Amino acid sequence: MSHEMGEPLQTFELKISLRTYSHSVSPIELPNLIRAAIEGDGTSCLFHAAAWTPMVKGCKYKGKDNPTCAICLNAIEENQLVAKTPCNHLYHKTCMTNWFRRSSIMFSPSCPSCRALVPVTYRFQRAAEVLSRTKLDNEGAVYIERTLVPQSGKHHNALIYATRV
Ligand SMILES: [Zn+2]
Ligand SMILES: [Zn+2]
Repeated sequence: MSHEMGEPLQTFELKISLRTYSHSVSPIELPNLIRAAIEGDGTSCLFHAAAWTPMVKGCKYKGKDNPTCAICLNAIEENQLVAKTPCNHLYHKTCMTNWFRRSSIMFSPSCPSCRALVPVTYRFQRAAEVLSRTKLDNEGAVYIERTLVPQSGKHHNALIYATRV
């Protein structure tokens, strides 16, 4: 049996509810999360902070004056990898990377000391899994639970939606 292009075989009413763990969702993320949960192979969860890695350029510190890293409050030693912001603040490279990784404002990252905007390049990790589970309830509704799990970190989001048949 064939059907005309553009003519739906069946239509469903979707009720979508969202449950998240370890990660707050901003309104800008929502359409993408829903799309990723319904269509997703995990590659479209573009707005998960955990799916992005900040690329911080570093170099070996050659000074002898041991300035303090304002993130970890430890001294910066000779030959440790450091990163310098355009506003001339100096941090350990790993401290700076972790700072931007934790930053909830990942699209406008700022210097931890003076809040000046710092241009940061983020690398998108496509490694995310979608786990699916379905069940029927007494009224014949099909519940499909899909969980987005970026493989890179602890953050994950669960989206649950139900299709009434
Ligand atoms: Zn540090
Ligand atoms: Zn600064």
